[in-house]
Amino acid sequence: MLDVQGLGIRFGGNHAVRDVTASLPAGQITAIIGPNGAGKSTFFNLISGFYQPTSGRIVLEGQDITRLKTHEVVGRGVARTFQTTTIYRELSVLENAMIGHRVRTKAGLLDALLRTGRERQDEAGSRAGGLRALERVGLAGQAHLSAGALSQEGQKRVGIAMALCSDPRLLLLDEPAAGMNPEETVNLMALIRELVAGGLTVALVEHKMSLVMGLADRILVLHHGQLIAQGTPEEVRTDPAVIEAYLGG
Ligand code: ADP
Ligand code: MG
Repeated sequence: MLDVQGLGIRFGGNHAVRDVTASLPAGQITAIIGPNGAGKSTFFNLISGFYQPTSGRIVLEGQDITRLKTHEVVGRGVARTFQTTTIYRELSVLENAMIGHRVRTKAGLLDALLRTGRERQDEAGSRAGGLRALERVGLAGQAHLSAGALSQEGQKRVGIAMALCSDPRLLLLDEPAAGMNPEETVNLMALIRELVAGGLTVALVEHKMSLVMGLADRILVLHHGQLIAQGTPEEVRTDPAVIEAYLGG
């Protein structure tokens, strides 16, 4: 699905991501793990066009997307959620999902928030798109609650629904289980498995190793911006460099 070759970005003298060559296979769950500050979120910011790399290439299904802007990357079928959920708490669950839909249509976020004429034309389409996304994450029954009234897990699901509104083939989840209790985490993992069973490719960032072991098909391990190991959960779990990175902090 996605290949990165020699990917890197520097902030001043700090190599946040350095010479990473790796693949995200289609139809699989790839986890990107590593200690805090390892470069995981930056890796997602590079793939999704939020940051421009200082070196390397990003290839999506054979097409070079290295220099594309965020909305162009979304248009190619890559969507993401953020480490900190960016939902509008005072709006309804459906209205949040509809904003996700509008952002990727011609209307754009500004039109969506200002409710311009062009935006109103798209209302019916956005509503349908929003409801479809809410069904996929199991929130259709809560569509008219205010988003702020949902649990932490529910709010994360809203964030995923917003991302699904752009009809992605590759979904990037940045610490989707952050702040969740064990039961909520199990439910979220089941949702991710369902999305993948439905044809989506998923990459998720997570710093808790135990959490991804039961979910990921493949794991990439970043440390100080570099890829220090990759493989199946079994392979990564027993890799001396990984153990060292985690024990060393
Ligand atoms: P992780 O998600 O693995 O915890 P990050 O990708 O957020 O780590 O950060 C990796 C490194 O890149 C850190 O040293 C961080 O300070 C740096 N970094 C990330 N984004 C920026 C930025 N916009 N400007 C400067 N430094 C940044
Ligand atoms: Mg991060």
